[in-house]
Amino acid sequence: MFEQAIASRMGLLHTESAFQILAKARALEAEGRSIIHMEIGQPDFKTPQNIIEAAYKAMNDGYTGYTPTPGLPESRKAIADYAAAHKGIVTSPEEIVIVPGGKPVMFYTMLMLVEPGDEVICPNPSFPIYESCINFAGGKAVSLPLTSKNDFRLDVDYFRNLITPKTKLVIINNPSNPTGGVFEKEDIEAVAEILKDRPDIFIMSDEIYDRLVFDGNVVSIAKYPEFKDRTIILDGFSKTYSMTGWRLGYGIMHKELAAHMEMLMVNSNSCATAFNQIAAIEALTGPQDMVEVMKNAFKERRDWLVAALNEIPGVNCCLPKGAFYVFPDISSFGISSDEFADRMLNEAGVAAAAGTAFGAYGEGYIRLSYATSLDNIKAAVERISGFTKKL
Ligand code: PLP
Repeated sequence: MFEQAIASRMGLLHTESAFQILAKARALEAEGRSIIHMEIGQPDFKTPQNIIEAAYKAMNDGYTGYTPTPGLPESRKAIADYAAAHKGIVTSPEEIVIVPGGKPVMFYTMLMLVEPGDEVICPNPSFPIYESCINFAGGKAVSLPLTSKNDFRLDVDYFRNLITPKTKLVIINNPSNPTGGVFEKEDIEAVAEILKDRPDIFIMSDEIYDRLVFDGNVVSIAKYPEFKDRTIILDGFSKTYSMTGWRLGYGIMHKELAAHMEMLMVNSNSCATAFNQIAAIEALTGPQDMVEVMKNAFKERRDWLVAALNEIPGVNCCLPKGAFYVFPDISSFGISSDEFADRMLNEAGVAAAAGTAFGAYGEGYIRLSYATSLDNIKAAVERISGFTKKL
């Protein structure tokens, strides 16, 4: 009805299909079907109680109004201290902008840096909202393919060849959604080496899963002094502290860039929720044992799931080092990822995302989120195994 009225730029935006699959799965459930949910990327744990109590107390203490646009000074300070302790990055409160979730950092980064015609190097497969935001800003997403052949790590030569005079921004997501793969220290150093003579190229480093690394740690490119000022770190509370619905994230960037992000914030959100910002301090400075409990549970599930998937003839799954996704190769079945995921939902009652929901290079894969109980995972593997026998 309003087709003529809608601004053409709206056609540049794409959705996140995990939410669409969830809606389909819920519709099947409403018909009485049993569905195991492995499509959505949110931890299946309650937010730790100390954080909930801190928010409740903050509400009672009057933190219910607007805050300064980039965030409360004490919350920005807690984030700066956290970045020093956990990422090894020396920063300060004026380099922090607190926003409602991790997602706004990607949207604002594209809006403030990308001009029509600019190229943004973007891993493929990757979080679909990157490309959507790049397109919205008028930029061109240039794919950096990730494949299971090298455990979804950086292909250094391929990356080098993607750089052109038009390259404005490079996106790193470490560990990665949807692959669970990790760029090792030498991959990050290779990126740094390639970009060292191009100070006009910025980096958006999405580190939202950086506390969910099972073997060792990941390194932020912002740790290298010559990259600190041209890197925008995206991080937040959704995954580490199981706070997806709180909508709380932040960007870390040079204070001149932070002023522009603040301008986008004042024009869209005014500020992030006040009492959540106080709870954020408790999350970052309070006991971290629940983060470890969650990580250990994810690791146990990952180990079980990868071994079980590899027992299914035709399925090939590498061991992801981080996040809470596996990205098995299902290409041997000779049907598209889309058809595989669709039929697996309809015929076997297991909801998962097609690899192509994350870009063309996701063809031949599906993404399963193991942010669900081990019992559910075991039941899902049994269903997947039965389903693949019929293909
Ligand atoms: N970055 C990646 C790679 C993600 O997978 C997600 C969420 O799934 C986000 C950012 C956004 O997180 P938030 O829910 O805090 O906006």
